Amino acid sequence: MKEDWGKEAGNIISKWARKHSLWVLAYGTGCGAIEIPPTMTSRYDAERFGITGSATPRQADVLLITGYLAVKTLKRVIRTYEQMQSPKYVMGFGSCTINGGMYWDSYNTIKRLDDYLPVDIFINGCMPRPEAVIDGFIELQKLIDAGTAQGWVKYKENLDTYRANQKKVITNWKMPDYNW
Ligand code: SF4
Repeated sequence: MKEDWGKEAGNIISKWARKHSLWVLAYGTGCGAIEIPPTMTSRYDAERFGITGSATPRQADVLLITGYLAVKTLKRVIRTYEQMQSPKYVMGFGSCTINGGMYWDSYNTIKRLDDYLPVDIFINGCMPRPEAVIDGFIELQKLIDAGTAQGWVKYKENLDTYRANQKKVITNWKMPDYNW
């Protein structure tokens, strides 16, 4: 009984710490990237929610994809995601990550980010304002608290499906196996 209580308390503390310490790797793929500096600096000050930038994938918790993704950029984004340690989360920022947005009929951009990577939260809009970005992070924190931000688990479990989708558009694959 005592052991269960200790385990439960440890779980609550680790979720609390995790959701208040989100290190973000912002992959500035599209025009939405311009909203990240105001989100992080003094006007909106995302750091008061425990959200801060990360310089490398290996220390990052959140991969923020800030807009449309060209096929050649997708390859780098996949490699970046696979270098991050679990638990890790993906946020799709802007309409382009949801359905292609204004690039829906472009020959060299992908239409739905979640066909290629497990997206935990989408932030809609073209482009979303800092308030919407912060709101997206707060929603992610709620999912972490509820234990339902499980995209990284979904990715491991469905790697074959993700790989098939990825290789359908990336013809010059040549990437190391996913082993993180
Ligand atoms: S959603 Fe709008 S702002 Fe964002 S990348 Fe697409 S076109 Fe640019």
